[in-house]
Amino acid sequence: MTTGPVRYLVVPTADAAGGARSARFGAKTILWVPAEQRLGRQSRTVPGLLLVTQVGRSFQDEYPDVTPLLDHGRHLVISAADRPRRRSNHCWRIETLRADTTIVDNPVVSSARVDPAISALVAEVSVASYQSDLTWLAGLPTRHSTSTTFTQAMDFAAERMVALGYQTTRMPIAVGAGQSANLIGDRPGTGSDGQGARGLVIVTAHLDSVNLAGGPGASAPGADDNGSGAAGVLELGRLLTNRLWKNDVRLILFGGEEQGLFGSKQYVATLPPAERARVRAVLNMDMIATKNTATPTVLLEGAQVSSAQMNALATAAATYTGLKVETSLNPFASDHVPFITAGMPAVLTIEGADSANGNIHSANDTLNFIDWSLAAEILRMNIAALAGWLEPAAARRPQPAGSVVSWGPGRLDVFAVGMDSALHHKAYDGTWQDFESLGGAVT
Ligand SMILES: [Zn+2]
Repeated sequence: MTTGPVRYLVVPTADAAGGARSARFGAKTILWVPAEQRLGRQSRTVPGLLLVTQVGRSFQDEYPDVTPLLDHGRHLVISAADRPRRRSNHCWRIETLRADTTIVDNPVVSSARVDPAISALVAEVSVASYQSDLTWLAGLPTRHSTSTTFTQAMDFAAERMVALGYQTTRMPIAVGAGQSANLIGDRPGTGSDGQGARGLVIVTAHLDSVNLAGGPGASAPGADDNGSGAAGVLELGRLLTNRLWKNDVRLILFGGEEQGLFGSKQYVATLPPAERARVRAVLNMDMIATKNTATPTVLLEGAQVSSAQMNALATAAATYTGLKVETSLNPFASDHVPFITAGMPAVLTIEGADSANGNIHSANDTLNFIDWSLAAEILRMNIAALAGWLEPAAARRPQPAGSVVSWGPGRLDVFAVGMDSALHHKAYDGTWQDFESLGGAVT
């Protein structure tokens, strides 16, 4: 055999034979002849297999002549014989497909016991409020990072955060030679603040949109990418103010994502070590509202550092939603990546991508393709996991009120609520002993 097509077979995962070189993509597994295996004297090395990770269908749009051997939407397998000269850009990346790996897992996760307090919060996800924010954002002609309408979108989001009681800051960022910004909204927790004792939970999405073919001036409604995630930050931010939490909440809307994660890279670079150490979880949403799969599916994408957070999200999905969960430890091309690179436990939640969304990064990324119920399910999973990381603050117990004193000529009466919550009285005689109980419970 001379240089021929790579020998491979795509089989249902359940049928994958032991001992074969394989890589798993959810319900599909690809088996192949190892690249290093030489077949006969005249032979050349069998071309290896390459893993492509892409945003939307960006790789397939750029290389329509390359036929993937396996297509799992965000992840493709191609033959090394088809290797394009470029190895990556910020929309897709090519690497060697390693043998005996799981690129996408679909873990069987059992549901946890339903916590009535979390269940009540999950029920407060409002499609109407989410829909109104996303409709407004997607109504702008573009949210290109350096456009004036991006600033309008940021003004809108800042106004919403301020109205909810978040303290907002705008962080100017450089996007190449241009300028954009990140919007940060903080709400402190009620836990004690000594020595960084309070944890920090960060909820993020990129606010910018892009029209790759048309350039900065072209129509870029960015409904799914990433009006869906940005409106998700506002909706989760709204839900979180319905309760008190021990840990701090930080909402961040990034600019410059579509040009290469400029906003999140610059944000992470400015985060002091003491702040990094407080981070309990970074929950990133990028494209949560297009249903590419037969059943509503979410992909959780993280790394070893965020495996506990991925488990918490998967359990939340099994307990409070009907979502099918896929997981991947192959983080790429969204704002969770700079956090993971810096060692923080970040996870991307993104719509499942059996056949990837082909409308993004163009004028076609409109509300017409938004599936409100998928977005609501992903928000339900996310709010349930957030509640776990933020830790509900215990309902405040009524505190005994201060004493009430009344006096007249030659007389001083003291009324006080005791630790038993009952009202006590004493005609003051120079000592604080022997209050008489007036009974009753004062609340
Ligand atoms: Zn995006």
